[in-house]
Amino acid sequence: MSDVHAAGTLPARRVDAVVIGAGFAGLYAVYKLRAMGLSHVGFEQGGGVGGTWYWNRYPGASSDSESWVYSYTFSPELEQAWTWSCRFPGQAEILSYLEHVAERFDLRPAFSFNTRVIAAVFDEARNLWQVETAQGDRVEAQFLITAVGCLSSAQVPQIPGLESFGGKWYHTGHWPHEDVDFSGLKVGVIGTGSSGIQSIPVIARQAAHLTVFQRTPNFSVPARNAPLSSEQQAELKRNIREIRETCRWSTIGQPYDLKPVDALSLSPAELRAQFEADWAKGGFEWMFGSFRDLLVDPRANALAADFVRGKIRDAVTDPDTARKLTPTGYPIGTKRLPLDADYFETFNRDNVRLIDLRETPIEAIVPDGIRTSVETVSLDAIVFATGFDAMTGPLNRLGIRGRGGVGLSAKWTAGPQTYLGLCTRGFPNLFMVTGPGSPSVLGNMPTSIEQHVDFICDFLAHARATGATLIEPTAEAEAEWGAHVKELAAGTLFPQTDSWYMGANIPGKPRVFLPYIGGFGTYRQLCQAVAERGYEGFCLS
Ligand code: NAP
Repeated sequence: MSDVHAAGTLPARRVDAVVIGAGFAGLYAVYKLRAMGLSHVGFEQGGGVGGTWYWNRYPGASSDSESWVYSYTFSPELEQAWTWSCRFPGQAEILSYLEHVAERFDLRPAFSFNTRVIAAVFDEARNLWQVETAQGDRVEAQFLITAVGCLSSAQVPQIPGLESFGGKWYHTGHWPHEDVDFSGLKVGVIGTGSSGIQSIPVIARQAAHLTVFQRTPNFSVPARNAPLSSEQQAELKRNIREIRETCRWSTIGQPYDLKPVDALSLSPAELRAQFEADWAKGGFEWMFGSFRDLLVDPRANALAADFVRGKIRDAVTDPDTARKLTPTGYPIGTKRLPLDADYFETFNRDNVRLIDLRETPIEAIVPDGIRTSVETVSLDAIVFATGFDAMTGPLNRLGIRGRGGVGLSAKWTAGPQTYLGLCTRGFPNLFMVTGPGSPSVLGNMPTSIEQHVDFICDFLAHARATGATLIEPTAEAEAEWGAHVKELAAGTLFPQTDSWYMGANIPGKPRVFLPYIGGFGTYRQLCQAVAERGYEGFCLS
């Protein structure tokens, strides 16, 4: 807190709860708090609601979860009122949905937009969070609820010379609101994660020329997006409750689950037939609705990886480009699997070129383009599809300080410590929606978000009913949860790979597997059991 504010020259508003963020999580949190009669205020850095879908306006941005699951379940009326146009809706449609939700439930007035939280300090004498924004707001609250997303802290890599670049540059996660027209331009895209893989085919169709700068080739599975017919829409609405119930208890919050079958138990012909059948369906089901051993047994994983490598060879005409695009050296699925629409085929276009940065690394950005170890590639625009400081990044930048003035980022120097991915010791009455140690990013986010917000609000109701004013995990519960999260990850192939799940994409970030990989349904059961046992693992005082 600045001296001026600490001296109390600005009046502090007093509410029961502060919510940070107006995406899927923040909107629902405000909806629930209001229903409970708790006074609240929301702060949102963006100029409107939407969170991820407010910021990620890059060409081709769309959901990787099907529309009928990538949405709220809390209101049957909303489910019936809103009609999705297609299987995987684009950014604009999802943003319209969230705007509709904000309008329908009158949630906007709860938020101050264009307002960035810069400090949240726990006042131990008064058991209150003192929250301060860059815009000068000061609010005191008993509860602090962060709803800042897991992938909202965009990372532009430190490449020398960016400031000298004569063209325009963009980050996919911070895309301008006005139309960006690449027609007639020479464009470079750095990065081939989900954002790169979604945007590259679209930019290639618009730009005069596209150069893709690839550091690590990625596996990708076809999305097979398609419009929904009116019959399909009606059928989905009829069955929506059942679909939702399946999602709630499934491994990744989807209406399908891993088959109780090992890939290794099948003959090569049976395996190929099953892989082909799931490939034809499109979407994550190919990996996460298939064999249970793919992400735990390297031999099974190799079979899946080889299948996709074959698909890449089939799709890409030039053998050398196909070779460069073919991932090797890490198990498939251990970097978040992208879904694509003709990503690999895009490299058959005359106006698209692939540069393999493992062979010819970027040395600098220069006024007219990007200089690699062998050439200068002339560019009018650069797109950074270089990802995010995942899960901990959005929380660390809020300026959160708990007991004894200890900063959250200081506590987490060696990696995040949480109980259930929701709370962290030393920071009483702080609740993180989809924090590190929660399943969140390993599946359908809205499923996770609703479960977390429901758990938090039930907990607040319990605290109110029992007269408790302070909620904090015990040291034992936090340590056990951390060990459990780590142990589960160690039983999979994930820790072998440099990925954002492991914090490996951010220089200096501790190498720790960030989410809980025990499955959404299992996690929900654990949370229910914790609540039923009087919020076991928490100290209520
Ligand atoms: P990402 O998966 O972290 O990918 C970043 C890419 O940039 C990687 O290819 C990375 O290469 C490359 N890169 C980073 N720094 C670089 C550097 N200095 N030089 C060259 N290349 C560099 O980020 P993302 O694609 O934005 O996706 C992040 C996550 O957001 C996804 O995994 C997903 O969970 C979510 N997302 C979801 C959707 C959706 O659901 N529709 C869409 C987009 C994103 P390396 O692999 O070598 O590090």
